[in-house]
Amino acid sequence: MEAKKIGIPVQPPSGQCQDSKCPFHGSLKLHGRTFTGMVLATRSAKTATVGWERRYYVPKYERYERRYTKLHVHNPTCINAQQGDVVIIAETRPLSKTKHFVVVQKSKPTSIKVAGEEELPEKEKQKQVKEKKTTETKEKKKRKGEQ
Ligand SMILES: [Zn+2]
Repeated sequence: MEAKKIGIPVQPPSGQCQDSKCPFHGSLKLHGRTFTGMVLATRSAKTATVGWERRYYVPKYERYERRYTKLHVHNPTCINAQQGDVVIIAETRPLSKTKHFVVVQKSKPTSIKVAGEEELPEKEKQKQVKEKKTTETKEKKKRKGEQ
């Protein structure tokens, strides 16, 4: 069975599936919004927990704060996104009590940037934290010396 056109410019999955709730091989139709996020968990069958960061403007401080969106998304067996994958999801009809989105494309973590988030390798992150700590302690020592 050929993968159907779903109306969104994404790469159709190479695999096949018997999932009726698959937009490529089943009868599911898409409408509404699309988002890009990261798979946080795949503990439930055919379901992925997808999340991403957004910026929320706080008028009082004229600055943005970080807020997070987390959704349950249907994960068709032909796509089978795993934890850590960056996925494109599309809105659809309610599939269950908490699912109204479906994964339409997955890619390796580095190829698509999640909006507003710059991915740093784990080592560099730790380095930055360490540097911050050392500078803080230095400053404290300085202050003590002045007193
Ligand atoms: Zn499928």
